[in-house]
Amino acid sequence: MEKLYTVLIVGVMDRVSSILERLLEGKYQLLLADNMKRAFELLDSSEEINLILFDKGMPKEEALANVVILKSTEAYNRIPVMIHLDEADWEFENRAFACGVDDFSIHPLDSQILQKRVENLILKNLYMQERQEIAGEEKQDYQEIWMKQAPYGIAVYSVEEDVQIININESLCTMTGYTMQEFMELFSKNPLDIIVEKERKIFSERLFLQEEKRSRRFHLLHKNGRTVFISVVVRQMSSEGNVKQFYAIFTDLSLEKRSNRSLDKTLMELRYRAERDTLTGLYNRETFYKKVAGIVMEEPRKKYVIVFLNIDRFKVVNELFSKKTGDVLLVNMANLIMKKVSHSGVCSRFEADHFVLCLQKEFLENEFSFFEALFSGAGEWNPVNYPIQLHAGIYEIEDVSMPVDLMCDRAAMALEMVMGSYLQHYMYYNEEMKLSIMSEQNLINEMETALIEKQFKVFYQPIVDAQTKKIVSAEALVRWIHPERGLISPGYFIPAFEKNGFISKLDMYVCREVCAFLSEQIQLGRKVVPISINISRINFYNANLHEEIHNITKEYGISSELLKIEITESAYEDNPLDLVKAIKVFQHCGFKVLMDDFGSGYSSLNMLKDITIDILKIDMKFVSNMENSDRATNILLSIIRMAKSIDMQTVAEGVENKDQYEILAGMGCDCIQGYYFYKPMPQDEFVTVLQECSQKDTMVSEKKQSMVLIIDDEKFNRVIARD
Ligand code: C2E
Ligand code: CA
Ligand code: CA
Repeated sequence: MEKLYTVLIVGVMDRVSSILERLLEGKYQLLLADNMKRAFELLDSSEEINLILFDKGMPKEEALANVVILKSTEAYNRIPVMIHLDEADWEFENRAFACGVDDFSIHPLDSQILQKRVENLILKNLYMQERQEIAGEEKQDYQEIWMKQAPYGIAVYSVEEDVQIININESLCTMTGYTMQEFMELFSKNPLDIIVEKERKIFSERLFLQEEKRSRRFHLLHKNGRTVFISVVVRQMSSEGNVKQFYAIFTDLSLEKRSNRSLDKTLMELRYRAERDTLTGLYNRETFYKKVAGIVMEEPRKKYVIVFLNIDRFKVVNELFSKKTGDVLLVNMANLIMKKVSHSGVCSRFEADHFVLCLQKEFLENEFSFFEALFSGAGEWNPVNYPIQLHAGIYEIEDVSMPVDLMCDRAAMALEMVMGSYLQHYMYYNEEMKLSIMSEQNLINEMETALIEKQFKVFYQPIVDAQTKKIVSAEALVRWIHPERGLISPGYFIPAFEKNGFISKLDMYVCREVCAFLSEQIQLGRKVVPISINISRINFYNANLHEEIHNITKEYGISSELLKIEITESAYEDNPLDLVKAIKVFQHCGFKVLMDDFGSGYSSLNMLKDITIDILKIDMKFVSNMENSDRATNILLSIIRMAKSIDMQTVAEGVENKDQYEILAGMGCDCIQGYYFYKPMPQDEFVTVLQECSQKDTMVSEKKQSMVLIIDDEKFNRVIARD
């Protein structure tokens, strides 16, 4: 058995709702803590924890404060930390990166991406540790080093309604006599409490809560009761909504007279750190926003563009060559861009390999050859013998009053569209991109209400016996009947729901609707046929899936032969072990399992070795390609034969015309689904069709046609003898 890495999830309030736990279960050994006290107990008692993940149960500012503690504690500071956020929050992420957070997971979650991120962080960290051990280096955070070395007391804290200390340094502890913990508690309760009592009245209550133009002098109350004459300067680092972040520098005046020069230096250093990306020296995200807002307003008649650059396969460089090499690449890139554009634009690095520039449109057009060369990997910036290219999304600023983050979002949207393309390296933003993304967001906003209001309707598509053409079963296919947009196809909303996990609820809803329908028809004494429901791959992370479905059938008194389960073949690639397990359990409960879209993925035949499927549903593309590809026809015939040899039924999907039907029937395919016979239809129509079908049954006994298939080595579809 392969060793599982251990992940500690902190802030798990309720195990049922912990999506993180669900998504990581089975892949990692999980430890759960609902608070930080428990987390420390686990950290101290467990052998090796490879990653700490803060769940949503812990407010993000609290999580961040805990990260600072973790990162400043020798025993834990090597463990990578991730924070799970409800939504992207750049300001917070920026701050959190500075405090040592390694990565974020952001709602809505995609299980594969989450698992990959966790795995990457763990592996990268293990690799780095190994290298550092070899080189005898110590991992140290730049900010830590700086705070440690500063000859002044420094406190970094945030202010909303309350004061929350983020970090303080050793010098401040020495100066005040308190331990870090004690100082944090004291200062958070009321910052003025650190001043001797008789001087407190002199200072405004806001002394530490706003930027102070000049330094203030007062007597600080040392823990041992002595007083220390100090000066303090308060500066704001950043602000987001109501939350402002400050730092305060405390100078011991009784000790230092010649401090002014060094203090200036420290202040400059602080300002630099607050404004810049420490690796490349380019502006950070926040400063970029401020600067761009300034320059586009200054000369509103000039046209500007935002260029969002991404280095392809940058991760590979880090993993293949080391993070240091990756850093060299980033620094080279930053220097190159700076040299070219610093006189005509603003340059920044947002995070990782994302460089964002604001340029005059005219400059970009005149110098486009420079950018094109850069995109295609030319220039002296790549330190490794491995081809690296760039992609860019470009947004032309039209409305200068638009928030700069939105402008950057648009450039990023355009980038997304072109990423991964070999032929095209850049793309301009257009309004359609906004529409496509906006409507996905709208769908997500409205999905819960839609479920409650029963806007999702189940359509039924009959499946016929290839020989008798009688309806032998049907597939339940969901549609969203939106009050304003009308009918929305599942192809449009299911991918979004798979990303955020809502699909699980929807699939259970469809299952319930189908069972209710079957039960009603049975009670009315009408003919029913088995119905298959589609179960999304996301559900296989849920260990109780079969139980939930089984309970629904029991609740409606539906026998398990009346419900079939359709699972798409590609689910096997995601999660083969869980899938095999789930299929066995379904079959054990008496449900027939269909493998949907068979032949569409890479693992079709592999999968059949591991799983006994009841019915194969052959991917539509073979049927549609049959007419102009002998290969497709040959594959179809092989699949049908192979299925027969291992006692599996076959269903051909997407049959649209008589020729296709006849060839398939001639090949021995058992059942046919497709527009040639029936399209998916609303429930009422399906009831009518079923009734007509059963009436016909009793009135006419169908005349069977005999069919002859003559197999020619070259072309199947021309050699069917029709009469
Ligand atoms: P699928 O499971 O492969 O379903 C078959 C799709 O082919 C359906 O599209 C059906 O309307 C369409 N189809 C049937 N006969 C023909 C034909 O002769 N020609 C052509 N061109 N198409 C035909 P639909 O309803 O748009 O569903 C698309 C996909 O959405 C489904 O593919 C399935 O993967 C997913 N889906 C639908 N309902 C559900 C659901 O309740 N839960 C989940 N998880 N997925 C669902
Ligand atoms: Ca299906
Ligand atoms: Ca299918």
